[in-house]
Amino acid sequence: MINLELPKKLRASANQAHQVAQEIFRPISRKYDLAEHDYPVELDTMAAMVEGLADSGTQKIGGAAGGRSDDSAADRHATELLGNTNGGNMSALLNALETSWGDVGLMLSIPYQGLGNAAIAAVAADEQLKRFGKVWASMAITEPSFGSDSAAVSTTAVLDGDEWVLNGEKIFVTAGQRSTHIVVWATVDKSLGRAAIKSFVVPRDAPGLSVARLEHKLGIKASDTAVLLLQDCRIPKDNILGSPEVNVEKGFAGVMQTFDNTRPLVAAMAIGVARAALEELRSILTAAGVDISYDVPVNNQHAAAAEFLRMEADYESAYLLALRAAWMADNKKPNSLEASMSKAKAGRTGTDVTLKAVELAGAIGYSQRTLLEKWGRDSKILDIFEGTQQIQQLIVARRILGKTSAELK
Ligand SMILES: Cc1cc2nc3c(=O)[nH]c(=O)nc-3n(C[C@H](O)[C@H](O)[C@H](O)COP(=O)(O)OP(=O)(O)OC[C@H]3O[C@@H](n4cnc5c(N)ncnc54)[C@H](O)[C@@H]3O)c2cc1C
Repeated sequence: MINLELPKKLRASANQAHQVAQEIFRPISRKYDLAEHDYPVELDTMAAMVEGLADSGTQKIGGAAGGRSDDSAADRHATELLGNTNGGNMSALLNALETSWGDVGLMLSIPYQGLGNAAIAAVAADEQLKRFGKVWASMAITEPSFGSDSAAVSTTAVLDGDEWVLNGEKIFVTAGQRSTHIVVWATVDKSLGRAAIKSFVVPRDAPGLSVARLEHKLGIKASDTAVLLLQDCRIPKDNILGSPEVNVEKGFAGVMQTFDNTRPLVAAMAIGVARAALEELRSILTAAGVDISYDVPVNNQHAAAAEFLRMEADYESAYLLALRAAWMADNKKPNSLEASMSKAKAGRTGTDVTLKAVELAGAIGYSQRTLLEKWGRDSKILDIFEGTQQIQQLIVARRILGKTSAELK
């Protein structure tokens, strides 16, 4: 029989993240939704806590920095022998889920837990991990000329002596103003196509890097979204992540590997928001006298209860798909297909559940008396960034049908 319960160690860190979500995020959730671009000062307390936990070897709270296990070598060896490791990816996923249950905009603003941290954890060499292990890294891929087609990167990186010189514009960079470092995708040789796309760690104080402006958005207003300019921006030669060699055979598998770690994380964020909405809806329905029963067929229940049960089933399957993708990453199994499946399912479930909850709660759902309408707005981005719903479906189709990106676009 499959045991779907979380191991004790993971449960403890997920509980800790849940407490942060409940006690720090929820009370200030509306405040920063109404004050876009204000820095949530409460997160500084969290930063200190995260730093302390990282120093003591305990798992981090927010989770976006996932990718490498913090387990001891002995623990890892033991679990690897059993062929069943739960490492950094699984822990990061659960923490992201719990903190997003509190507030996904704030979760994306947790210092030292950016999506760029996951990229660093996924592909950095050991020496780079030492240098960049404690930075707060955002992730800059998107440019004015493309979003979904990440092979179209036009920002350039040219080696000049001991430094890379970067030129280009990056848009919609989450935590792009607040992070201490930015992981920037750039091409080292446009004529060589996607194989020449590499990622670079750009420190905030690098000469030639500037924030052009911040975006105003539908949701996740607590999170800063920046336009960044790289104008003859100079960084040290060894700030390139992965090999500087251009391997045309391998394509841009190196940088794409990041997504195998970050997509399940974004799925977890959507699952966290969906769970928040389901819980709120359950209490509203219960207060309105609607019984939700697990013993009676849905067709014999109140229509709202039937909708609730359908959404809960979707939520469960999204959750299990995300667990599978993270488990595969922790166990070094290729998971691009499963990462995209989990992101597609969770992204859609997040928007479906939150908007349906607004609908079923009626006027209360649409008003600001609860956070339901906010979750409806917040969840949409989770079906857009790190690859839209359509792009995830495309990747799944390519993998299942054995087609290349040229054959199926
Ligand atoms: C709040 C916010 C935060 C973000 N944070 C970051 C960040 O931190 N770092 C970063 O690099 N980027 C970030 N982004 C950018 C985000 O990743 C892109 O918006 C996303 O990849 C989609 O790109 P696009 O907006 O250019 O849409 P497009 O690529 O122009 O797509 C438009 C529509 O067409 C669909 N589409 C595109 N191609 C296909 C196809 N082949 N088949 C079928 N349908 C297709 C898409 O699914 C979408 O529905 C962020 C965006 C937002 C709004």
